[in-house]
Amino acid sequence: MKIICVGRNYADHAKELNNEVPKAPVIFMKPKTAILLPGKQLYYPEFTDDLQYEAEMVVRITKNGKFIQEKFANKYYGDVTIGIDFTARDVQREQQQKGLPWEIAKAFDGSAAVGSFSKITPETDVSNIAFQLKKNGETVQDGHSRNMIFSVDKIIAYVSQYFTLNIGDMIFTGTPAGVGPVNAGDTLEAYMQGYKVLEVEVR
Ligand code: MG
Repeated sequence: MKIICVGRNYADHAKELNNEVPKAPVIFMKPKTAILLPGKQLYYPEFTDDLQYEAEMVVRITKNGKFIQEKFANKYYGDVTIGIDFTARDVQREQQQKGLPWEIAKAFDGSAAVGSFSKITPETDVSNIAFQLKKNGETVQDGHSRNMIFSVDKIIAYVSQYFTLNIGDMIFTGTPAGVGPVNAGDTLEAYMQGYKVLEVEVR
């Protein structure tokens, strides 16, 4: 399985990092070894001094497909949750300045925390999902999927031109404003529609 991530999918977050609002989705990937399952602790990586959280809505692919049209994209994902795209921001900046790929800043072990999934029912509207991230009990990110620049269906249509999507693949759909640092000893909790779906302790 693979984890496909969208960068800069909320205008307020692009702005806080001084990035332009993109014309096409900014895509990167994380390997399976990046997954941090619910209940697992994240060990602060030794290669960074600026580990940051990015809470994001995550959808899981439930049907294989390639060249998926936007109007059929909703047939290809069936589960939704909130995840955290952990980022070594200092390493990412360094890579960006050199024009180099981001993987060492974004795809390391434990960098993709994934909450408990909920089944998408006919009543679920993934463009109407409120989510929050709390750090040590204080709300640090308060997002809503309606503010995404590229919808889930648009993302799927775009990425499936390049990559076959397989059952079990996950898509991290981008983070809203409010990203910030985490330190050893911090506890992060992610909420979707008011329900806690993920808790991560940083060691
Ligand atoms: Mg992200």
